[in-house]
Amino acid sequence: MATTGAGATPITVAHGDGIGPEIMEATLAILQEAGARLEIETIQIGEAVYKSGHTSGITPDAWDSLRRTKVFLKAPITTPQGGGFKSLNVTVRKTLGLYANIRPCVAYAPYVRTKHPGMDVVIVRENEEDLYAGIEHRQTDQVMQCLKLISRPGCEKIVRYAFDYAVKNNRKKVTCFTKDNIMKLTDGLFHKVFDEIAAEYPSIENEHWIIDIGAAKMADTPGAFDVIVMPNLYGDVLSDVAAQIAGSVGLAGSANIGDHCAMFEAIHGSAPRRAGQNLANPSGLFLGSVLMLVHIGEVEAAERAHNAWLKTLEDGIHTYDIFDEKVSKQKVGTREFAQAVIARLGQKPEQLKAVSYSGDVPEAGRATAKGAGAATAARKSKKELVGVDVFFDWSSGSPDDLGSALAPLAGPDLTLKMISNRGLKVWPDGLPETFCSDHWRCRFQDAEGGAPITHRQVVDLLGRIEAAGLDFIKTEHLCNFDGEPGFSLDQGQ
Ligand code: NAD
Repeated sequence: MATTGAGATPITVAHGDGIGPEIMEATLAILQEAGARLEIETIQIGEAVYKSGHTSGITPDAWDSLRRTKVFLKAPITTPQGGGFKSLNVTVRKTLGLYANIRPCVAYAPYVRTKHPGMDVVIVRENEEDLYAGIEHRQTDQVMQCLKLISRPGCEKIVRYAFDYAVKNNRKKVTCFTKDNIMKLTDGLFHKVFDEIAAEYPSIENEHWIIDIGAAKMADTPGAFDVIVMPNLYGDVLSDVAAQIAGSVGLAGSANIGDHCAMFEAIHGSAPRRAGQNLANPSGLFLGSVLMLVHIGEVEAAERAHNAWLKTLEDGIHTYDIFDEKVSKQKVGTREFAQAVIARLGQKPEQLKAVSYSGDVPEAGRATAKGAGAATAARKSKKELVGVDVFFDWSSGSPDDLGSALAPLAGPDLTLKMISNRGLKVWPDGLPETFCSDHWRCRFQDAEGGAPITHRQVVDLLGRIEAAGLDFIKTEHLCNFDGEPGFSLDQGQ
């Protein structure tokens, strides 16, 4: 597609697989008629690219385009079945540093059936870290492991993004969901950073919920929330729940934002069974594209297009997926839906709330306090090695048997402090009722339990363990940071 006027913003577009090409065509037709000034570069991604031997689903020249335009409007793609194919979404997000995933979840009652008329929640999901680092290891016959990595800079970027988003979009409250009653270090850091950064935004209300009860509350009473920020996995799950209870996953778009680049898409997949039949609802991708227009400053086109889309919904012109005889007036295909939106450009909805993207974007709302710098300043804590957890693949007896084998190996300068199995202390003083897998964590520290030890002592300990013929599978160092333990205690310890 060609340039649509002087001052056009270059963007990269991928038409994707399945219903992708149809909904992209419909979306671009609306954007063009709405007056969006875009200079479009088209790239190929997805199924055909995977099958041509690029295991990540994207070619080197496509990367060149993305790095040049820095703005990506992407239709859904089909990931081929079978091993060896990496998720293109995860690859693009991580490679381009798209750390924030933004998903507005809005109800359009009574025109689209929903249990929650009035729902208007924005999920801000951390997009790069957490269990999605994808670092997994099989440890023993019985036990697999996935590393959950949460970094302070990662938390700071996403939490600050959520508060800035709230300020710019006239939102009143930012809520944080974590499970820090259990994961005190990882989710605890996310919560701590949330509290630090919230203090810089006195005009925005803030609160924290434990994810389980928070999710239940969101599914039951979404009106209690405004913007919700959370780590990657919780955000992945709950953003689909939020979109679905608002009305349909087929209606939600999302933005993936980084410091240098951004990607916009529908949240649904390529729906292969619906492909090529002019049936699919283009609304998810269209709403993703509206987020893109706002991002690149095409606010007038964004507002015209979005209001015309709302008016189309309100006029009962619906694709099959949201068609409801009680409220719908006309069942249309993908192309006809886009034409109906185009015919309404310049109109606003009468019952649904019209959107407004023009006007000043407020910069204010942030305290000028040193707090801003305090949170982000590079910290270098005083780090002291105070012990080591050695993990074993072992299935030759009871916890007491393992304790008896290991305790003599600890000396002379270390002491076996405890053994745990799946996070529960089983030695000393375990109970015979406790089930134990073949994966054991054995904690060695100095006799008092807190004095510094050396790497040499750890290496010597491992040497004694090796000589005894025990299968140690990994170690984790126990360190204090500025005197605070940087490791969890076990249940029962
Ligand atoms: P899907 O979202 O494609 O489809 C789920 C259901 O929703 C289907 O019944 C489909 O008919 C319906 N549906 C989805 N979008 C619709 C629309 N716009 N209009 C009308 N109906 C719509 O999920 P799936 O079937 O699990 O996955 C299909 C493929 O999509 C898989 O290959 C998967 O890997 C891929 N996928 C891609 C993305 C992406 O590119 N961002 C995201 C999710 C899934």
